Amino acid sequence: MDFESACNFMEQLASTTSKLEKIQITKNMLRNARNDEELKAIILLLQGRQYPDYINKETGVSTNLLIKAMVKAYGYDEKHIEEKWKKTGDLGLVSEELAKTKKQRMLLTQKLDLIYVLQTLQKLSELEGEGSIDKKISLIAGLLINAKSLEAKYITRWILGDLRIGVAEGIIRESIVAAFFVQVFWQELFNSSLSSDNLLNLALKYWKGLKLIVGKEVILSNPHINLIKRIAGDVRIIKEEEIKKFSSFHYTSLDADILIVSSNDLGNYLREYLSKLVETAYSLINDMPEIAVIAKNKGEEGLKDVKPIIFRPIRVMLAQRVSSIEEAFKLLGKVVAWEYKFDGFRTQIHKKGNDVRIFTRRLEDVTKQFPDVVQAVRECVKCNECIIEGETIGYDRETGKWLPFQKISRRIKRKYDIEEMVKKIPVMTFLFDIVYLEGDKKIDFKFKERRRLLESIVDEKDKKMMLAKQLITSDVEEAKKFYKEALDLGNEGVMAKNLEAAYEPGLRVGHMLKIKPTLENLDLTIVAAEWGEGKRSGVFSSFELACLDKDTGEFLTIGKLGTGIKEKVEAGGITFEELTEMLKPYIIREEGKKVYVKPSIVVEVAYEEIQKSPTYTSGFALRFPRLIRVRDDKSVDEIDDIERISRIYALQRCRLKQQDIM
Ligand code: AMP
Repeated sequence: MDFESACNFMEQLASTTSKLEKIQITKNMLRNARNDEELKAIILLLQGRQYPDYINKETGVSTNLLIKAMVKAYGYDEKHIEEKWKKTGDLGLVSEELAKTKKQRMLLTQKLDLIYVLQTLQKLSELEGEGSIDKKISLIAGLLINAKSLEAKYITRWILGDLRIGVAEGIIRESIVAAFFVQVFWQELFNSSLSSDNLLNLALKYWKGLKLIVGKEVILSNPHINLIKRIAGDVRIIKEEEIKKFSSFHYTSLDADILIVSSNDLGNYLREYLSKLVETAYSLINDMPEIAVIAKNKGEEGLKDVKPIIFRPIRVMLAQRVSSIEEAFKLLGKVVAWEYKFDGFRTQIHKKGNDVRIFTRRLEDVTKQFPDVVQAVRECVKCNECIIEGETIGYDRETGKWLPFQKISRRIKRKYDIEEMVKKIPVMTFLFDIVYLEGDKKIDFKFKERRRLLESIVDEKDKKMMLAKQLITSDVEEAKKFYKEALDLGNEGVMAKNLEAAYEPGLRVGHMLKIKPTLENLDLTIVAAEWGEGKRSGVFSSFELACLDKDTGEFLTIGKLGTGIKEKVEAGGITFEELTEMLKPYIIREEGKKVYVKPSIVVEVAYEEIQKSPTYTSGFALRFPRLIRVRDDKSVDEIDDIERISRIYALQRCRLKQQDIM
C-alpha cells in the first residue's frame, strides 16, 4: 500500500465520529493489505506505534527534535514553526501546512510506500550514541522532504505516536473481526436503522459490490430487499439452520462479506464471541499486528490456538470494585472464594527451567530488582515451564509485619545496590493464579481448578512463596470477619472470586471483585498545567496537582486533573478558560506544552482512591481525580499534607467507619 493511500484512510477515519463507520473504513483498509507484512504495518499505523506493544522501543524523538527536522525539511526557522504549533496544538497540521509551501522542493520525489515509512521510523529507535541526534534529524527530514502535505501530516503524527484518528484498541479489534470474518447484522437493527440511523448511509457507502447472505427467515420489506440487491454484488438467500451449520465464519470459508439473520442472538453471539477471541489472543501475546495476520490466515481456530509466550508478559485479568460483602455475594453467587487484597505489587512470574523473569502489572520487567523472588521461584515452584501470578509484599525483618507498598515501591525503582535493598526490605510473594503450565495455557480452566494446579506445583516450605490464604464460604458474617481480619493485618481489603470462572486476560471482569473502604475529598494546589489541543487549544486542559510536605515546605505532586472542569460557562462550575486565566499570572516557566506555575490556587478534589505511584514526587497518585470547586477561602499553606494523604491511604485499608463493613 502506498503511504498516500494509507493517509487517505486516516483522513476518512478522522472525518467521522461514528464507531460503525470507523470500523467499516478500517476494515476496508485491512482488506486492502497486499500481504502479511503490509497488514502488520497498517495495524501499527492505526496504533500510532512502530513496533508491537510487547517491544518496548521508542523513537526517542522529542517535539524539539522533530521541529529541528522540520526546519531542515522545510527551510523555515524554529520560531516560525513553534508559533504555528502553539496556535494549532498539533505539529502534524504544521507539517502539512509547511509541506504545501516548502522552500526546498526535491525535483524527483519518489512515491512513499507504507512499509518504507515504517522501516524508516523503526530506524529512529535503533540509533543510539554519538551523532544519533543528527542522524535522526536527517532521517525524519528525508522522509518529510519526500512527502506530500497529507503524508507529512501523518508522518509527523506517527512519530509522535498520536494519529488523532479516533481509533482506539476496541475499534482495531472490531475491525479485525469485520475484515476477516463475515459481518453479521440482524433484521431488527437493519429494519429500524434504515429509516433513522446511519446504517443506510453505511450500506450505501461501504457495501457496494459486497457479497451478502440473507437468512431465509429474515423478514425485510420489499424496498429493503431491493436496496440490498442494488448495492450488493451478490445476494444469496439461505435457510438459517444452514447458517448455523457453518462452523467457522471466516470470510473465505463462507464466501460472503455480510450475513443478515433474523434474530439478534446469532448476530450478537458471533460479534461478541469473535471480538473476545481477538481480545484474549491479543492480551496473551501483546502483538496486534500478529493477531491480525492470524485472524486473516487461520481464522477462529488460529485465534483460539494463541498461547502465551514464555518471558513475554501477558495482560493480566483485572478486578471490578464493589462496596460491600453483600454486593459481592449478589454478583458472584452463593459460594465465594475470599482472599486478602495484599498491599504489594502484582507479580507475573515466568519460569522455564532455571530461568525466571518477573513482570509488573504494567508489563515492566523487574527481574533485576528482585533476585530474591527469582531465587524463591527456583526453590519453591516445582515445574519446568509456567506463568503464575501473585502479589509481592515487603515485611519487617524484626517483627515479621507486612509493610505498606510504599516501601517496596523503592525496590521496584532501584537500579543499583540491589543486594543492599534485598537485605533492607525483604519480600514474600503470595500466589493466587496460574495461566500457563508445561506448554499448555490454563486460562479456560475454572478458578478452582487453576488454584488446585497452583497448589500442586508450589512448595511453601520456607514461606518465601505462599499461596494466598483463601476462605470459601457462603456465609456473609464469616466473610465480614475475614474482611476485618484482612484490614487489621494491613491489607488493602479483600478480593472476592468466582470459583467457576475462567481467566480472562486483559479484562476487568465481573467475577473477580475487590472491596476496600471509601474516602473523603482533598484540598490540593496546582503546580503545573498543559496547553490543550483541538477544541481546547489556547487553554490549559490538564492540571498537575500537589500536596504539601509540612516539614520541608515542598510541594509534592500527586496526580493530574482534567475532569470536573466545564467547557462552557452555562454548564455551571468552573471552566477551562476561567481556570487558565486564574493560573496565568503565576506562570514561572514553559517547557514545550507544559507550563509550571507558582502554587497559589487551591482546589478541592474528589477521587476514587489513593494509589501508590512512582510517577509523582509524593509517591502517591489519585485515581480518577475530579474537581469539586476552587477553594478561594484557602491559602496554599492550608492544603492537605503528605502525612494526611499517607493516613488516608492507610485508612483505605483500615476501615473508615465500622459500618462500612459491619
Ligand atoms: P486494584 O489495583 O485496586 O485494581 O486491585 C487489583 C490488584 O490487587 C491486582 O492487580 C493485584 O495487584 C492486587 N491483589 C492483591 N491481592 C490480590 C489477590 N489475592 N488476588 C488478586 N489480586 C490481588
